[in-house]
Amino acid sequence: MKILLVQPTTLDRNGGPNKWKRPFLPNYTLPYLSALTPRGVEVEIADEKVDSIDFGGGYDLVGISALTSQAVRAYGIADRFREAGIPVVMGGIHVTALPEEAARHCDAVVMGEAENVWVQVLEDAARGRLKGVYRANGFHDMKDLPAPRFDLLKRKDFISPFLPILATKGCPHDCDFCSVSRFFGKSYRFRPLEDVIREITASGAKRFTFVDDNITANRNYSKELFKAMIPLGVQWLGQCTINLGRDPALCRLAAESGCCFMSIGIESVDEDNLASIDKSWNRVKEFPELLSNIRKSGIGLALNMIVGLDNDDRGIFRKTLRFLMDNRAFTLILNTPIPYPGTRLAQRLDTEGRLLHTNWSGYTQGSILYTPRRISAGELEAGYWSLLDDFFSYPSIARRALGQSCRNLPYYFKRNLDLHMSVKRRVY
Ligand code: SF4
Repeated sequence: MKILLVQPTTLDRNGGPNKWKRPFLPNYTLPYLSALTPRGVEVEIADEKVDSIDFGGGYDLVGISALTSQAVRAYGIADRFREAGIPVVMGGIHVTALPEEAARHCDAVVMGEAENVWVQVLEDAARGRLKGVYRANGFHDMKDLPAPRFDLLKRKDFISPFLPILATKGCPHDCDFCSVSRFFGKSYRFRPLEDVIREITASGAKRFTFVDDNITANRNYSKELFKAMIPLGVQWLGQCTINLGRDPALCRLAAESGCCFMSIGIESVDEDNLASIDKSWNRVKEFPELLSNIRKSGIGLALNMIVGLDNDDRGIFRKTLRFLMDNRAFTLILNTPIPYPGTRLAQRLDTEGRLLHTNWSGYTQGSILYTPRRISAGELEAGYWSLLDDFFSYPSIARRALGQSCRNLPYYFKRNLDLHMSVKRRVY
């Protein structure tokens, strides 16, 4: 049996696939799904950002995993394979949220985590008896997970060798815009430490990105993980909440284990906004102290902010910029609210009649997807770009460099100068 696993890209303005010269990170999903595939099944993978799809490859089955912004392209690929008589199975967060939509374009839909159902899907496909829906019962315990098959990827195309790795899944919080808790519930699970350490050591790589949604949600686990990583002499990036700053010992261990920067969901500097997205445990008055605890331990702050929330007016852009500068942000991930299907945010906006469209190809960073309350859509778009222009300007990069640890400076300048150019080209 020969299968193709596909991660589609998004669509460009002309409706063609968006290609990337050098994606920031290697794909994780496809190599991981390949590793879950039993030996004896021949696997090819196509990360469409960098690979082309061989529609005449003689496959017995095509598996497609898509994010919301990739869904339209995913359906186009699925339709084409099915026209040629090749069965298609689809999975991922978008498909799990909207299985009926996906089912119009494929032979089988996988809802939930693939670990518990993927082998069954392959066995049924081999017998020509795919069921319409495979629903994962519960969550995998994360023991004995296989190492992703990165050998199947075109590694030379990657901008940085930060190999993706997974230690935990889920998040105990429940922010209204986030798909994570919709998909995983509020469960939080982790792999045995020895499995993670073995995977790091066996890979031979020295730089990693934890793809976990919240790597420090269980502080005891994180401390043990970071302690075990210290002797490995690696560098790594990850995502967590600002609660990391409440535990200076955890900050120190993260830094000693090689953490260069953490992506942290601050979201807004306005308390009412934070309450409106069910994130009031993020307290504005605590931000400076908690962020300073993290930064002073040597970890750069990659801050996630959202502009266009319901309490934002024209002043929010200046206020956000001042906050980012005062806290010496390493970098910025700036979003407008994206009402992903299945989230409470999407339901609320739909009920209020404020959703502008559900053309999934437009569900990308910085898109205006609903009518803001206190500013116009045009003001939001202009303010979004002007905030990015200011944040990634040369004077800002120079000023923020003063707050970074020396070991992170080379990477700080590379990342910020790359983003300076991207913002200029409006392809941030
Ligand atoms: S803390 Fe982050 S990962 Fe957790 S629910 Fe909120 S946005 Fe999602």
